[in-house]
Amino acid sequence: MTHADPGAQGALAQRWLVCAAQQRQTVEYRLTCLAFEAIAAGRSLPLAEAQVALGMTREDVRELIERMAGQGRLTLDERREAIVAAGGLSLIPSRHRLLLNGRQLYTWCALDAVGIPAGLRADARVESRCAACGAPIWLEIEAGELRSASHPDLSLSLVAPDLSRSLRDGVCAEIGFYCCRAGDEADARGLLSLAAAVQLGRELCLSGPPI
Ligand SMILES: [Zn+2]
Repeated sequence: MTHADPGAQGALAQRWLVCAAQQRQTVEYRLTCLAFEAIAAGRSLPLAEAQVALGMTREDVRELIERMAGQGRLTLDERREAIVAAGGLSLIPSRHRLLLNGRQLYTWCALDAVGIPAGLRADARVESRCAACGAPIWLEIEAGELRSASHPDLSLSLVAPDLSRSLRDGVCAEIGFYCCRAGDEADARGLLSLAAAVQLGRELCLSGPPI
């Protein structure tokens, strides 16, 4: 069994911060912020509203949104007329349930689940399952600070921010919670402590969506 390597995990965390900083000035990030704000308020973002806010033509905003949907950076509703998930925050049920300031939402990964409330200085309760053994896990955040968790040594698997893969279905799908060190999968990844994940997530989510 291998143990989490703090040096390697620190380097990986740094790569996430660099990747996020590179996204900040892009139109993709502006759109993600608009959708994220709507979703945090419990509603989807219609394309027409995004078009007005971004000052783009209908064709250009459609092209941008379809491209980002293909990259797993946002999710569209069934009619492909509104954004229902972006920047890791989702109106659609997923493995990770996030009660954010009293509103039931969902996230694409474990890092989003802790980072979003930490960055927004929000009150939150996260409910998920251990990616190795399937046991239910939960944690509570108050004004952005970790208050309690179901397991004292709860940790997260962190993978590289490789945007050539689908953010939602590739990268985020591999960032899970672990309540135990069981399983080859956890051994192979190395794990980030919950406290370190809250710290990284807070830095990533200070402007809202991490990427
Ligand atoms: Zn477990």
